[in-house]
Amino acid sequence: MNILNVENLNLGFECENGFFSALYNVSFSLAKSEMLALVGESGCGKSISAMSILQLLPKTAQITSGKITFDDKNILEMSPTELQHLRGAKIALIPQDPMTSLNPLYTVGDQLLEVIKIHQNLKGKAAIEKAVEAFKSVQIPNPEERLRAYPHEFSGGMKQRGIIAMALACNAEILIADEPTTALDVTIQAQIMDILEKIKQERQTAILLITHDLAVVKEHADRVAVMYSGRIVETAPANEFFANPKHPYSLALLNSLPSNRGKVLETIQGQPPSIQQKIDGCKFHPRCKFCMEICKKVAPTSQKIGENHFVACHLVNKNS
Ligand code: SF4
Repeated sequence: MNILNVENLNLGFECENGFFSALYNVSFSLAKSEMLALVGESGCGKSISAMSILQLLPKTAQITSGKITFDDKNILEMSPTELQHLRGAKIALIPQDPMTSLNPLYTVGDQLLEVIKIHQNLKGKAAIEKAVEAFKSVQIPNPEERLRAYPHEFSGGMKQRGIIAMALACNAEILIADEPTTALDVTIQAQIMDILEKIKQERQTAILLITHDLAVVKEHADRVAVMYSGRIVETAPANEFFANPKHPYSLALLNSLPSNRGKVLETIQGQPPSIQQKIDGCKFHPRCKFCMEICKKVAPTSQKIGENHFVACHLVNKNS
């Protein structure tokens, strides 16, 4: 059963020289115990889609239409108090840089206990027990002692574990992990991803993983949604996506993976467009080697091509 639904989300930015659309009819869902990877190049709209869920958008951003439902309640219609309860207690953010969420002036333990007090209404010994349990769940050694440490005494990977522990202490039902391992070295990256996977399995937590790292996606995600220039161009179960990618952009991303041993590595020609750049038809057409005349004029709509497999590309009609 889905606990989160994003439906036809349209969002833009009010800039000095006008209003520019950044998300076009973005739709995706998330079920309990599911890890959905939202992938694509920088600036494609992954993070802004995630921030829309938490309603943590820059002042210039404006949602023009769409619906985001959590447990059948529209997040876009929630009051500030309801939103405050939602963030942290129900949906938690694991950011790329954990220092954006940790205050350097307080110990990690104090910050964790504050979260437990607000969201779990626990104090004293009960709160400390909950904090120790959360630290143990993310494999922080000597948890009682580490609660007294300041963020600067934690390594990058340890800080990220501290943030995940805060989400666990609140029993968050959804984790939004925005490039959670980008700033970490490869061994620590693997440890953090293993922790997230364990949380998903043991607690039925739903995870929205924002990443450009397809190797991580292949190893951990259940489903993949590929974004390009503010649109979702392909969605599929992960095994189906890696075995049978259909959108030319997905193919190009996969062909540029260094793990494609034995195959010629490809680069995707050109750059992703900025939101101020006007491109008619399919936004990928200036970079697509399969581009047809229709692609330059008409934007393709998403079509079902298999079990839970959707693609927005005119080639689908041509080949069917
Ligand atoms: Fe390429 Fe056309 Fe498909 Fe766009 S719609 S990805 S330009 S083939």
